[in-house]
Amino acid sequence: MSLLPSCKDVQSLATEYQEGHLSFSDRFGIRVHLLLCWACRAFIRGLEALPGITKRALAPPGGAPPEAQKALAATLKRLKS
Ligand SMILES: [Zn+2]
Repeated sequence: MSLLPSCKDVQSLATEYQEGHLSFSDRFGIRVHLLLCWACRAFIRGLEALPGITKRALAPPGGAPPEAQKALAATLKRLKS
């Protein structure tokens, strides 16, 4: 990789950059590139947001509000009696 990496270099090394697995010179080059390139900044921000988006997408659905649970319980009780 040259002193100033290309967009392709930054995007292919983005995960290693975020995880801190790059050499000082590679990190420095990427930081300089990110100062100059809005597209790669957006790409890195997107990657940073990914774990939260994935976590929310894979989380089990939340329970019904307490009022709905009470109404359901009351309805089921009436149906059983
Ligand atoms: Zn770029």
